[in-house]
Amino acid sequence: MARDDVEVVVVGGGAAGIAAARLLHDASIDCLLVEARSRLGGRAWTVIERGYPLDLGCGWLHSADRNPWRGIAEAQGATIDRSAAPWSRQPLEVSFPRDELKDYQEAMTSFFDRLERLAQHPSDAPCSDAFLPGCRWNPLFDALSSYISGAEWEFISAKDYDRYDDSGINWRIVEGLGATIAAHGAGLPVAFDCPVRNIDHGGNRLRIETAQGAITADRAIIAAPPTMLATGALSFTPALPEKFEAAQNLPLGHDDKLFMTLDHAEEFDTDLRVFGHIDRAATAGYNFRPFGRPLIEAYFGGACAAALEAQGDAAFFDFAAAELSDVFGNGFRSRIKPIRVHRWGADPFARGAYSYAAPGFADCRQTLAEPVENRLFFAGEACSPHDFSTAHGALQSGVAAAEQVIAARMRAH
Ligand SMILES: Cc1cc2nc3c(=O)[nH]c(=O)nc-3n(C[C@H](O)[C@H](O)[C@H](O)COP(=O)(O)OP(=O)(O)OC[C@H]3O[C@@H](n4cnc5c(N)ncnc54)[C@H](O)[C@@H]3O)c2cc1C
Repeated sequence: MARDDVEVVVVGGGAAGIAAARLLHDASIDCLLVEARSRLGGRAWTVIERGYPLDLGCGWLHSADRNPWRGIAEAQGATIDRSAAPWSRQPLEVSFPRDELKDYQEAMTSFFDRLERLAQHPSDAPCSDAFLPGCRWNPLFDALSSYISGAEWEFISAKDYDRYDDSGINWRIVEGLGATIAAHGAGLPVAFDCPVRNIDHGGNRLRIETAQGAITADRAIIAAPPTMLATGALSFTPALPEKFEAAQNLPLGHDDKLFMTLDHAEEFDTDLRVFGHIDRAATAGYNFRPFGRPLIEAYFGGACAAALEAQGDAAFFDFAAAELSDVFGNGFRSRIKPIRVHRWGADPFARGAYSYAAPGFADCRQTLAEPVENRLFFAGEACSPHDFSTAHGALQSGVAAAEQVIAARMRAH
């Protein structure tokens, strides 16, 4: 352990922890970012494959017009791609016949209207209560929810879903959002390969037990995913039952991306949207030629992603090849090859993709974010009231926690 006594420990070097440590470090506050992995970024992770930067985790600057990662990327000299997101474009007709698409879009508009009204009820119902029983599009709505939230509508609180704030502007970073987020941590004091197991807040100072020994600190920002608290991988002494309960009701859904090469890619438009199937929930979404590259990015969510994760990496390609063969014919399989997939649910330091609140637990985000004794502070996308499940929500929560630390220090001095 490089340092065993610091003023502030930040647990977890994802978007939230990096943003928190950046602010503290730049304010000349003695802090140490303690990260379980051997890299920064967490669920933000750009890898280079075939010469292309690929975002295995977050890739989109959602609400890009007010997303702080955009300015950070620009300051780093990265390039912002402002072209329209595939999901805002007409899908390829062979994958979604136009008359059916119109029917689906009308049904979807009325589903979201009902969902908005449902969220105003005093009871915090599951989003699936907004389904029209027997509607032929309900399974495809579930597929959509599995991409948006990582789970089917029945598992998601309508109030929580309704609190998400989206400006509707979605841009990307050519060099990768994961690369931008990791680079924002450059120069910070970090202990890598150092999972925190327990935080003892019973004494005058905090004792943070890690895989590399104990660290003593005055304050800590906990910016690890809620799955770590919910599973007990990261615990507190004395226990914090309200945090445990909040974390248990803010599970991370399942979402995974598979990147594939595509031969004769020029046959397709850039950022073309292709549906796998339109009659079921267990179907992937396909983005052909992201950024004009000769690739396909397949997106798997919810129960479909969970089932494929259990079968291993190869299952994702088999599933995608079978779906795309149904759309384009059997010869299509020979045009695609798998490059890379990451199973976020099996990732020991994520254990899922992004958070949603269970029905009845919409207020858990606030409970999770609440400081304890003015020395334990909480951050991470799950703590964000309106931008949860995103990298910018994570950043904002990290900044908020760092500002709380600074305010607590000032009161103490
Ligand atoms: C497939 C996928 C697609 C996504 N797409 C988008 C998108 O397009 N746009 C968007 O905005 N968001 C997207 N997201 C969500 C976004 O990636 C996350 O919301 C965000 O990165 C979370 O940041 P965080 O700091 O809260 O958590 P994390 O990134 O999970 O960071 C937490 C850190 O804590 C570390 N850690 C865990 N346990 C411990 C421990 N015990 N001790 C020390 N360290 C620990 C982890 O290793 C990790 O580095 C996507 C996520 C996935 C998985």
